[in-house]
Amino acid sequence: MDVVVHPPAASTTTTSIRVFHDIPSLRSYCRQLLQANESVALVPTMGALHAGHLSLVRQAAQDNRHVFVSIYVNPTQFGPNEDLASYPRTWEADLQALRDLDVELAGRNHDAGGSSGRISGIFAPATKTMYPTLPPASSDLTAQGSFVTITPLSSLLEGASRPGFFRGVTTVCMKLFHIMTPDRVYFGQKDVQQTIVVKRMVRDFCMDIDVRVGSTVRDPDGLALSSRNVYLGERRRKVAGVLYAALRCAEGQFLRAGKRQRNDILDPALELLSSTAQAQARAEPHLRARFELDYLSLADPDTLEELDVVDDEKGAVLSAAIKMLPVEAPPDTNNNPDEENRGSGGGTTTVRLLDNIILLPPGSSERK
Ligand code: AMP
Repeated sequence: MDVVVHPPAASTTTTSIRVFHDIPSLRSYCRQLLQANESVALVPTMGALHAGHLSLVRQAAQDNRHVFVSIYVNPTQFGPNEDLASYPRTWEADLQALRDLDVELAGRNHDAGGSSGRISGIFAPATKTMYPTLPPASSDLTAQGSFVTITPLSSLLEGASRPGFFRGVTTVCMKLFHIMTPDRVYFGQKDVQQTIVVKRMVRDFCMDIDVRVGSTVRDPDGLALSSRNVYLGERRRKVAGVLYAALRCAEGQFLRAGKRQRNDILDPALELLSSTAQAQARAEPHLRARFELDYLSLADPDTLEELDVVDDEKGAVLSAAIKMLPVEAPPDTNNNPDEENRGSGGGTTTVRLLDNIILLPPGSSERK
């Protein structure tokens, strides 16, 4: 069933984003556009949209006439003990954010003489639609079924911590790409391994799709925006900035100190992470936010293999993940003002944060 989203009453510019829940109507709409030589872009998301998602949509609208945003919380990329059930779902707010952005794009279109694209559709399928013969609850690695697996890239880094995660991502992306056959797809630099795995899938399966990457959007203190940041709460949020700070510290070793050896680049970052973790461990339990380092990686930009030395011709991907542990309660929770700031879920869950910085080859301004 399609629904036309009407503009907010006060708006002077119209938006007519079509919402698709089923494949045939979306497929035939995309096909019509492509046959009319209109460029089609896809921005895959799991909803709970924030400024990072919206920047990808803006970028897609700069390069294409029609932008489609998929909003689907894909069960096969969640591990059995992950947050599939509690993952933030904010459909009304997402719809409003995309309507507002479309109105902004229309204004830009007017100013730029019609060169900017618009948001033409949102695809919000049910799981039965995306997995017609297999309704998986989550990523059970032993499950039989039709999956897309890209190895060894998918087994490294995030894949080592979250087995099955990339199998879920590439499987759902393959489905979305088949349904819409977009000219271009947009992914965030924030999930650098995802961009590399999806590019590899498109290449290895000879797909005629251009995979483009948008810069990471951050909060003022450097924390990368993520739909999961709502779980953090103020206490953990203050400490979470250490992730980006550590990456910047390592980047400084490469850029400013001219270091190329693994230990020279990573050791100062490890020291910062370790001293921050120790300071938290020493603090009062009801005030502290403890975290554990999952990985700190210096890897080849194409294979994601760990590097001992950075090759100036290729540069490297510097990435890390930390686990913010559940917040600890004070003896008397009734009298603690901090309780309000434990985040969505009451601060009881571990929140995994990841981030990265690309170390570009000296002299180059951008990696493809
Ligand atoms: P998600 O909804 O988390 O699956 O993310 C959908 C897309 O948005 C992915 O390509 C992410 O890499 C991208 N994304 C998420 N957070 C950010 C961010 N802070 N800046 C830029 N892109 C992001």
